[in-house]
Amino acid sequence: MAHRVTLIPGDGTGPELTEATRRVLEATGVDFDWDVREAGVDVMETAGTPLPEETLASVKTNKVALKGPITTPIGTGFRSVNVALRHELGLYACLRPCKTYRGVRSRYDNVDLVIVRENTEDLYAGIEYEAGTVEAEQVIGELNALQSKQIASGSGLSIKPISREGSERIIRFAFEYARAHGRKRVSCVTKANIMKFTDGLFLDVFRGVAKDYPEIDPWENLVDAICMGLVQRPEEFDVLVLPNLYGDIVSDLTAGLVGGLGVAPGGNIGPDAAVFEATHGSAPKYKGQNKVNPTAMILSGKLMLEHLGEADAARRLEDAVAAVIAEGDRVTYDMKPSRDDPTAVGTSEYADAIIEKLEG
Ligand code: NAD
Repeated sequence: MAHRVTLIPGDGTGPELTEATRRVLEATGVDFDWDVREAGVDVMETAGTPLPEETLASVKTNKVALKGPITTPIGTGFRSVNVALRHELGLYACLRPCKTYRGVRSRYDNVDLVIVRENTEDLYAGIEYEAGTVEAEQVIGELNALQSKQIASGSGLSIKPISREGSERIIRFAFEYARAHGRKRVSCVTKANIMKFTDGLFLDVFRGVAKDYPEIDPWENLVDAICMGLVQRPEEFDVLVLPNLYGDIVSDLTAGLVGGLGVAPGGNIGPDAAVFEATHGSAPKYKGQNKVNPTAMILSGKLMLEHLGEADAARRLEDAVAAVIAEGDRVTYDMKPSRDDPTAVGTSEYADAIIEKLEG
């Protein structure tokens, strides 16, 4: 039976990347029944919102979406569609595999790690008090009454909530992912030596959950030390589970280890739905030029195939992508040794090269 999947082309370069990805996914032989829905700046005028209700309803019904990047308009009062989707659909886990493919321009070989980032809590929970407001002064007053350390009046505050439940579900997700994919190690990345009641709680939960997965080696890493470790010996790391803020920062670092945004896929996953999308944004300056690299979105499609239980198609797709990159002839400008290389091909022709491998 065909997999019914919500397809959100997005805006900027999103539609051309999505079209290339759709064609490649269909060439795997897996049957899809695409439910194409709009979101982004291009529908704001007609729909009055960048995230129409029917688009959200479609993802809720189909439970799986493949999404092109979407611009967050600055100064319009509209909330980021990407953040809204994660929030509305309860997508608590952000999955970002980072792997070097032979032929990609990177300083490293043999990197093959997976970032599992908590998506809902921590300093990104959106609980903030602006300096000088009545609310900020009230919170400061209450806190100062509880402790001898005093917060200066006039400070701004960002609150860092980390719960046992929120930590357990993301840590369990990381171990389950490791088990399902034959991974050997899960690193818990925190600053638990300093923030004992938030990161310390996260680490405590990690120690408990790790006992249920005796075949997996649990590592405890401090976030500062792992930044150095990742640039010195990235091949040592396997699955990393991180609270929201560290996950955001470290996943950009690891994308840099494997060739940058053009090749960094991702998925946002919750108990009821999953949305797969590239790590990069809508690169609007290249819109409509058939120029940008669809690898990140195609590899997000590979994650989606795994999520749909199509492991064989996922493997064949990854092999085809790896072969085209390794040959290095029919790749986009950013994967050529020099960015103005006249032999670079467009988004669509690169997809054609992958399709030939899949069908050949
Ligand atoms: P961006 O990722 O769109 O682009 C930064 C630069 O990276 C581009 O100028 C381009 O040189 C390069 N790049 C990005 N994707 C590439 C690709 N596939 N191939 C080749 N080069 C690529 O980041 P930005 O300019 O900061 O953001 C543009 C818009 O995208 C903003 O409105 C931002 O809010 C939004 N955004 C959306 C998402 C999402 O949809 N999940 C994620 C990040 C940013």
